[in-house]
Amino acid sequence: MRTVDAILKDYRAFLSDVSEEAARLTEIYREYMVCKKGCSQCCTDLTLLPLEWFALDKVVQDEGLHPQPYVSEERCTMLDNDACMVYPYRPLICRTHGLPLLYLTQDYNDAGIRIKVDEPEWQISWCDLNFTDVSEETMEDIFDPEDVLNMEEWNLILGKLNREFLKTPEGKALGKNRIPLKNISAS
Ligand code: SF4
Repeated sequence: MRTVDAILKDYRAFLSDVSEEAARLTEIYREYMVCKKGCSQCCTDLTLLPLEWFALDKVVQDEGLHPQPYVSEERCTMLDNDACMVYPYRPLICRTHGLPLLYLTQDYNDAGIRIKVDEPEWQISWCDLNFTDVSEETMEDIFDPEDVLNMEEWNLILGKLNREFLKTPEGKALGKNRIPLKNISAS
């Protein structure tokens, strides 16, 4: 069994790879994208896998950060004046905000765990607030399937790291379910 530190190292490398790909796609679609720093409409109350939650909680504790009080599910507690206070450490979902995403059709149970869908299909989703000129009719002309974030691939890597983490004492202490980001407390 690997240590938590070794798993965290791989997790950070994974996040760095996601950001690299996100930067590549941002260059490709820059002319269509309207979101800028200060747009925080995607920053709602998220739930995270235990590994993601543990890694973010550790940063908050280590850096002595002070999450904002929980106001509503519309607002992440890591938002400070509409900027993310943990931006370099933000989890996968936050790094995908605003980009075109490739998914297999999915469904979730009450615990937020993904469940099998009969005959899933590939679909591209995008943020209407960001790609204001893209519609169902024009999306195929704008989004090249080679140049979208394949979330199945990223989630596969993340899921593997999370399963490893769940075998460690720290992972066992957190349990298997997704955890609200707002449970990260002020240090
Ligand atoms: S962690 Fe940061 S980027 Fe992610 S939802 Fe919260 S404020 Fe937004």
